[in-house]
Amino acid sequence: MESVSVSSQLNKGVRLQYMNLPQGDKCQVTYVWIDGTGQGLRNKTRTLDQEPKTIHDIPEWNFDGSSTYQAEGSNSDMYLIPVAMFRDPFTLDPNKLVLCEVLKYNRLPAETNNRARCRKIMEQVKEHVIWFGMEQEYTLYGTDGHPFGWPKNGYPKPQGPYYCGVGADCAYGRDVVECHYKACMYAGVNIYGTNAEVMPSQWEFQIGPCEGLDMGDHLWMARFLLHRVCEDFGIVSTLDPKPMTGNWNGAGCHTNVSTKVMREEDGIKFIDEAMKKLETRHQKHIEHYDPNGGKDNLRRLTGHHETSSIDDFSFGVANRASSIRIPRHVGQEKKGYFEDRRPAANCDPYSVTMILAETVLLEPEDYDKVYDFEKEYMFEKKD
Ligand code: ADP
Ligand code: MN
Ligand code: MN
Ligand code: MN
Repeated sequence: MESVSVSSQLNKGVRLQYMNLPQGDKCQVTYVWIDGTGQGLRNKTRTLDQEPKTIHDIPEWNFDGSSTYQAEGSNSDMYLIPVAMFRDPFTLDPNKLVLCEVLKYNRLPAETNNRARCRKIMEQVKEHVIWFGMEQEYTLYGTDGHPFGWPKNGYPKPQGPYYCGVGADCAYGRDVVECHYKACMYAGVNIYGTNAEVMPSQWEFQIGPCEGLDMGDHLWMARFLLHRVCEDFGIVSTLDPKPMTGNWNGAGCHTNVSTKVMREEDGIKFIDEAMKKLETRHQKHIEHYDPNGGKDNLRRLTGHHETSSIDDFSFGVANRASSIRIPRHVGQEKKGYFEDRRPAANCDPYSVTMILAETVLLEPEDYDKVYDFEKEYMFEKKD
């Protein structure tokens, strides 16, 4: 078992003895935030005198941004603004996990705080009740840098039996998937389902449907839980969009979208309208669909392995080789949602949902009217 971390092999019976100790009225709150890479998550914990009942009961905090690729050493204090509270499935009730926005020393959003801009757009389109559901694909790795369970030298048998597969020769690392699912449910993360993917040791979970800004909040917390569950098992999960080159599927984050009118009788005509608008902004969307402006997705959107080419926009009913797929049942019932298959597994859901809401719900003349963060302060200081 040399591909499993040393920490995961410590005595867990001893651990349990401490974890079961009573904690009085005090509450542990773990603050979670996105670091300067736009992909990494960081966290730290503090004690509150009593259990917070709402997000407003949790105070602001700060951290050293020079250690998270977020600030220079000379002006390194960054603010943590609690925005979404969840139950902590690791230390259990009454303890909390709290997702935070990050502000710079001047209380403007940090570079990788895409939630701030997403929040502004979602406020603007609130009346449309836009729902999202995101399908997060990921790949498990051992600590040795090989996909988990793959032979040390060589490869497992070719793709075919793994998607939704069962059995020790097909499903690599199901423990992680099942524990993550329960952890999400306990935490209050809106998890929809899960399945094994086409490449061995690749899996998927879905979050949603979530309205507006909630989509990003729930997916980021689900990612935190995934990394944390993996840590307990001593392995690693990566969201790289194309972890293995060659004849192995990449990893995406298909994003399902509907507005109020799309979900109602004959909503398909609003889906068709959305396709026309999306066609005009393909390149812009690609820039928002991975953290490197499309570079990461270039390795994945090849036109092979159930993907479309990164250069072309296409859509079709039940077509998994197009940019956007309209599920067969949606075509039949003439209402429902569409699936944007372009976002990469390592996308920022705030960026993805923000650009989708903008393109689908605003008029073209209002596109690109970026909120002026340098002038308008996002958060007033709480007393
Ligand atoms: P696929 O067939 O593409 O693998 P999945 O079953 O993996 O689809 O995921 C379906 C996703 O669609 C889920 O995240 C779910 O929350 C989302 N979804 C379902 N209904 C809607 C809707 N009306 N609007 C937006 N998303 C939806
Ligand atoms: Mn899926
Ligand atoms: Mn999938
Ligand atoms: Mn899908």
